[in-house]
Amino acid sequence: MKDRFERELTYLRISVVDRCNLRCLYCMPAHGAGFEPWKDILSYDEIVSLTRCFAELGIRKVRLTGGEPLVRKGIAGLISRIREIPGISELALSTNGVFLREQGCELKEAGLNRVNISLDTLHRGRFIQIARMDRLAEVLAGIDEALNLGFYPVKINTVLMKGINDDEILDFVRFAVERSIEVRFIELMQTNGAVQLDAKNNFLSTEEAKEKIEKEFNLISFDTYLSSPAKVFSIDGTNARVGFISPLSCFFCSRCNRLRLKANGALKTCLHGKEDLDLKFLLRSGMPEEEIKRKIEEVVFVRPEQHFLNEKDVPHNDFQMSHVGG
Ligand code: SAM
Repeated sequence: MKDRFERELTYLRISVVDRCNLRCLYCMPAHGAGFEPWKDILSYDEIVSLTRCFAELGIRKVRLTGGEPLVRKGIAGLISRIREIPGISELALSTNGVFLREQGCELKEAGLNRVNISLDTLHRGRFIQIARMDRLAEVLAGIDEALNLGFYPVKINTVLMKGINDDEILDFVRFAVERSIEVRFIELMQTNGAVQLDAKNNFLSTEEAKEKIEKEFNLISFDTYLSSPAKVFSIDGTNARVGFISPLSCFFCSRCNRLRLKANGALKTCLHGKEDLDLKFLLRSGMPEEEIKRKIEEVVFVRPEQHFLNEKDVPHNDFQMSHVGG
């Protein structure tokens, strides 16, 4: 399945739930996060049916995200069902790590290949300030568990926030070095869930983070998949890596190979674009899978060439990341 700019779509991010057990201040408001009623959240049967359609259209990699995917009961069962879909060769999970220690083993046995864990600070007090919950110890135990279980690769995602966690950049690099893993620094996106943060005062570019790291570590450019949004570097003399995700620079749009299925069944062909298709409605109105596939192909074909995050007066920030899954 290709769009009109010849980009092939091979990667589907599925948000399995819009609820989360944290309230990160760059992602969700402390109260009134606006959850969908459960009846409007795709059932596992519906997710599996749609994933089968996407696989037949050429999707090869699936990532489960949220909200927090591990707050939904029975995720391991969903994983084993997706693993059985012909064509899906890679299955990944994005999680805040809180439930990873208790669920990791089950997820691995179900066939999960890899995990990305979000972590924005290594200090308990600051974790409470950012995530509005006291759960750092569980997240750290979850990271250890992921490593013990042999998930590969394990990646840490850290949102850069000037004045909040920018003094920990080198600590995160050391954390990655000690564990031989990859830490990826993400530029803060100004969504409507991030209203507590100031786009001007709290934004720190990945370029600034990289300069800081290079004062202490030698970074060697590392080849990643062309479709990866991260620019990745090996840290000289170690088995660790550091990645930089710079959504605002837009360098990634021309190679973007991903689609997003929201927990309510809406399909987004661009993270910062509109919702393109209500797949839940089509499925529940009894549309045959062949027709659903044609509808998907139609909206994919006309997907935007790039996002407009850098332009003023565009309602690009009119969404909450927890509703889309990152
Ligand atoms: N709960 C899971 C987790 O913590 O990874 C999956 C969902 S979370 C919405 C996915 C990713 O989006 C996380 O890495 C999070 O840090 C990132 N994210 C959320 N809001 C963001 C924002 N305003 N700017 C940059 N990244 C953001």
